[in-house]
Amino acid sequence: MGLFGKKPLKIGLIGLGKIAVDQHIPSIRANKHLQLVAGCSPRARPEGIQAYDDMDAMMTAHPEIEAIAICTPPQIRHEIAKQVIGIGRHVFLEKPPAATLGEAEAIKALAAAKGVSLLASWHSRFAPAVEATRKWVSEREIKSITIHWKENVRQWHPGQAWIFEPGGMGVFDPGINSLSILTRILADAVMVKKADLHIPVNCDAPIQVEMDMVTEAGFPIRAEYDFLQTGVQTWSIYIESKAYEKLTLSMGGTELEIDGRTMIKQKEAEYSGLYAHFHDLIRKGQSDADFSPLRIVADAMLLGKRIAAPEYIE
Ligand code: NAP
Repeated sequence: MGLFGKKPLKIGLIGLGKIAVDQHIPSIRANKHLQLVAGCSPRARPEGIQAYDDMDAMMTAHPEIEAIAICTPPQIRHEIAKQVIGIGRHVFLEKPPAATLGEAEAIKALAAAKGVSLLASWHSRFAPAVEATRKWVSEREIKSITIHWKENVRQWHPGQAWIFEPGGMGVFDPGINSLSILTRILADAVMVKKADLHIPVNCDAPIQVEMDMVTEAGFPIRAEYDFLQTGVQTWSIYIESKAYEKLTLSMGGTELEIDGRTMIKQKEAEYSGLYAHFHDLIRKGQSDADFSPLRIVADAMLLGKRIAAPEYIE
């Protein structure tokens, strides 16, 4: 099979929506160690990929598939992951890993018991300026961190009703990307102290969130998430050290500025990094399943104050 010979690892996709088309299909095709065999989705039929109605049909036609990326909305991820692990295939989970922490932990336990590799992916951790930020933070005493993750849901998520349904996480769907960076750059635990969750009267998940967190070391982290941002879209993390140095990680982690000077400005290539990591995990018989960003979202939902917001109409 793929990893033991020179042949590429054979991959199947479940869920052929926006992220599969924008990122998974081109990133797998660009990696010579991987081969995209087929995909499945109830309705979507993207050009150039052999597509089936469901996983059973895909696996019956292509039993040679060795690993599967699950690119569906999170609410059905656990059920699908269970089936994939049940037939002994390696699993790549899109973010967030599941709709609840309990489901995510269950997937991890199933993968370990079956001996397959599991990647609970956090694509933003593979943004080009994240590692430099982590190093900068590790060498300093930090005074505060502020996150602004503000985008227009109508522009970026048209037709994705699942986002505002239970388990869809609302504005935490993009916001969790900032938390995946935060939990990567900090060695310390992060705890939620307060969260205001603005939930449209016709939705089940927040459209805006203001959240205060604190680290074990005791410095504050403020996060502002807004799904109604028009004009300039912001995916930024601002960090100040106790020595008054300032770092800004912006554009989702592709740009880094320190004390006003641009240090990194690169094109994103997150999914090529993620797929190289997935291949490496399988080769080494390992898994990577860190649920700390999901735990922060779960804590915000536990502790948060629910505030009624105007009806959301797409
Ligand atoms: P999407 O455009 O709504 O696509 C989801 C796809 O899942 C749909 O095409 C749908 O199929 C398919 N699906 C639904 N039920 C299924 C089932 N039972 N079996 C197989 N496929 C099923 O959503 P998306 O934007 O791609 O997001 C998917 C996941 O990726 C989310 O967790 C999201 O957080 C994550 N993600 C998204 C982005 C982004 O920029 N959009 C970026 C990074 C990560 P049909 O269309 O065939 O009905």
